[in-house]
Amino acid sequence: MSGLNNYALPFRIEGQNVNGRAVKLNSLASDVLVRHDYPEAVSRLLGEALVLVSMLGTMLKFDGRFILQLQGGGPISMLMADYTPDAGGVGGLRGFAQFDEAALSAALKAGSPPMALLGEKGHMAFTVDQGADMERYQGIVPLEGNTLADAALGYFERSEQIGTALKLAAAPLLLPGGKTEWRAGGIVVQQMAATGGVVDIETPPEGDPDLVDDDWHRLEILLHTTEDSELLDSELSGEALAFRLFHEDGVRVFEPRELTFACPCTRQRVLNMLAGLPDADRIEMQAQENVEVCCEFCNENYVFSPQEAFSVG
Ligand SMILES: [Zn+2]
Repeated sequence: MSGLNNYALPFRIEGQNVNGRAVKLNSLASDVLVRHDYPEAVSRLLGEALVLVSMLGTMLKFDGRFILQLQGGGPISMLMADYTPDAGGVGGLRGFAQFDEAALSAALKAGSPPMALLGEKGHMAFTVDQGADMERYQGIVPLEGNTLADAALGYFERSEQIGTALKLAAAPLLLPGGKTEWRAGGIVVQQMAATGGVVDIETPPEGDPDLVDDDWHRLEILLHTTEDSELLDSELSGEALAFRLFHEDGVRVFEPRELTFACPCTRQRVLNMLAGLPDADRIEMQAQENVEVCCEFCNENYVFSPQEAFSVG
């Protein structure tokens, strides 16, 4: 297998109508999370969200931007991660979170599970954006369960109704010298839909079309034997993990999809955005010494003089 550092590896469990993905975000988890420097609980959740969009984005039958948005009334008011494949097939990942620092530390002291940080009445939205002129697909479900993996399963149960099992993990790794790196990873297996669901896969089915429930149950149990440490270990490849879990049924791996950090923001895009602001906002900003705009997704700070900021449009 190629020496990719960050990838989603598609695999099939031979003889079963089951597809899977193993996702490894080694350097990429740090690329996204260190630039934000959020509190650890927020970074963990965002790290898992990046793994989840990698799994699902690479399972789409078509190329498009795949967006995961979690929203509720909790200390973390919003969390967003998205996956956009480029023309060469490399998947770009980015994400951000909005949260209330004081409410967050109070909730953590009270022992809130990760998903409770998003609030009681949160929801989860998956959006597939294939660009202008194309149909936009969106699925929204209430946030349920204590972990992001639970919430994702809730989504599959409600909307896709195909058997899915998954594990997600993200954690900081303390290096000698006090430096912190992040790792994130995950694995998913999914029964193949008889008719195409949104995350149905591009390769044709084979084997027994009616997967016996006992078999599926056994595969689910096997998947859940995966330890977080295996998902986070950069020395353990996705291929080795898939073989460890499912070698008795036979595993076929496909070409891995490379993943990278990517945010399409540029000075010009920010200028275009400023040009589109209502007059009242523009007048107020023109009175300031500098116009500063921070990209929420990548934390890049753009600074303009008022003349430069409003010389277009
Ligand atoms: Zn950006």
